[in-house]
Order: sequence, then C-alpha cells, then structure tokens
Amino acid sequence: MSEVIVPSISLNDGTSIPALGFGTYKLNGSAGVDSMVSAIKAGYRLLDSAFKYENEGAVGEAVRRCGIAREELFITSKIPGLRHRYNEALYTIEESLFRAGLDYYDFYLIHWPNPSQDLYVEAWQALIEARRRGLVRSIGLSNFLPEHIQRLIDETGVAPSVNQIELHPYFPQQEQREWHAQQGILTQSWSPLGRANAALQEPPVVEAARMHGKTVGQVILRWHVQLGAVPIPKATSPERQLENLSIFDFELSREEVEAITGLGRADGRRKDQHPAHYEEY
Ligand code: NAP
Repeated sequence: MSEVIVPSISLNDGTSIPALGFGTYKLNGSAGVDSMVSAIKAGYRLLDSAFKYENEGAVGEAVRRCGIAREELFITSKIPGLRHRYNEALYTIEESLFRAGLDYYDFYLIHWPNPSQDLYVEAWQALIEARRRGLVRSIGLSNFLPEHIQRLIDETGVAPSVNQIELHPYFPQQEQREWHAQQGILTQSWSPLGRANAALQEPPVVEAARMHGKTVGQVILRWHVQLGAVPIPKATSPERQLENLSIFDFELSREEVEAITGLGRADGRRKDQHPAHYEEY
C-alpha cells in the first residue's frame, strides 16, 4: 500500500502535530493492534488513545510492530476523571507509560473537566510536572470550555497546546473554535465523522463529494482541515484508513465549507455530553 504524507501544524509550545490523526477508541486486543499497525503503515503518525479506552497496551504494541521509528510517531493518552488529584494524576501517567511500554507520551490530555469535582486544576498541575520530568512532551485538554481553560491559565500561567472537542457537521463549534484560535490553542476534532451519522448523506456533503470525485467521508475530513481543526477519525479496515488519509489533494470552496458548517444544530452533540455538567470517570 502506498503511504500518504500528512502535513504538519505548529503548536504554541514549539512542537508540531500531523494535520490528521487516527482514533483508537474500540480498537482493542490483537485485532486492534493489527488495525493500528495498518493505519501507521498507510501514513498516520498520530494515534489518539486514553487510559479509559483500555488499549494503551495495544497502542504500545502497535508502536513496536509498525516498523516506523518511535520519534516519528505522536502518541496521545488522557487522564480519566477519577484521577484528577495531583498525586493520582501523576501515577496514572506513569501507569499509562508502563501499560504501553513507552518512555514518554507525545501528548497527554485531561479527558474531561468534570467541573463538579473541581479538581481539574490539580490534574493540570500534574501534567505540567509530568512534562517537566520528561514523561510527556506536550500537554493539553479535552472537552474543556473556555471558562475552564481560562481558569487553568490564570492559576498556573500555562496554556494548553490543544483542546480536543466533539466536532462534526451537526456540531461545528464555531464559537469555541474561534476562542481557541484567539488563544493560540489548536482544536482537535473527536468523532469527526459523527461516528458515521446521517450527516454523511446531507446534500452539501454529497454534492461536494460528487464535484471533487471524493467520498463523503473525505469531504467531511477535508472540511475539518479547512476549519483549522485536526480530525482523528477511527476506521477499522485498511481501505477506509487510506480513504480517510487521502484528503490533502483537493480543496473545498469557501461556499462548500460554509454549506457544510450550515448543517450545524444547537443540539448537535451526539449524546447529552455538555462539558458544563457531564461527568466522565
Ligand atoms: P468517528 O471517527 O467520527 O467515526 C468512526 C465510525 O465511522 C466507525 O464506525 C467507522 O467504521 C466509521 N467510518 C470511518 N471512516 C469512514 C468513512 N470514510 N465512511 C464511512 N464511515 C466511516 O468516531 P469516533 O471513533 O467516536 O471518534 C474518533 C476518535 O476520537 C476516537 O476513536 C477517539 O480516539 C476520539 N474520541 C475522543 C473523545 C473524547 O472525549 N476526547 C470522545 C470520543 C472519541 P469502522 O471502524 O467500521 O471502519
């Protein structure tokens, strides 16, 4: 299989990141390792995992088996909600490394703010310390609202490099993306295909796919890239993995981008997971 070269994007902490990554939720065990290895061989370099996905071991195994040098890969994991206390967050990062058999993570994120626990500042201080110790290279967030991020910056003086949020055509998150851009924080898109929801069949998506001779999945992933967000689609088969990577050889017009953004709905989240009240442990 030919390998697709993914361009990279600079981050506010001097590191850089591929413009598209690979989601690993639900990729577990040997079958998961096989999927991740085929994704890396196709050209993905960023793998998105989490302590909660119970697949950090599989990610580490894929890193060892894929034949690509460790330093060319960008491996992400995330602190679960139950481990926000400073000491627990630090040993969880170490446990993540032991599980994966890796010496460092490229990215470590706080998975959810869980504001009713009110411990995310402690988790952030632990991430800052983990970076100082060399356990992680770049630190960031997931599912944080602007008010949560502002509080972290105010209390620690350290801004995140990325915030990974739910983002797909039914939920384009325009305000949050604009706020990130003003702060120099990169947006990463989770469930970028809406987990293959009905948006794939919406007329603006189907029409753009026809115009450019691309698939509907490729059009949506290209839309993310043109919004300035980094999508991390998950796909099990090598064919779909390659399809989702092959989005750097065409460009949507401004009108096409706007028409897809126009599919957004106020209640467009896939589930009732508003970070102001949703708690994930
Ligand atoms: P997604 O990537 O939007 O969609 C994955 C689904 O779409 C799978 O069922 C996949 O099927 C299918 N698919 C893949 N490519 C396709 C294509 N070209 N055309 C049609 N269908 C296609 O959903 P996701 O897995 O929820 O999100 C991606 C990643 O985001 C996750 O794996 C995880 O790493 C991350 N995530 C993070 C959070 C967070 O709170 N931070 C939350 C959710 C997800 P097959 O697998 O059968 O190919």
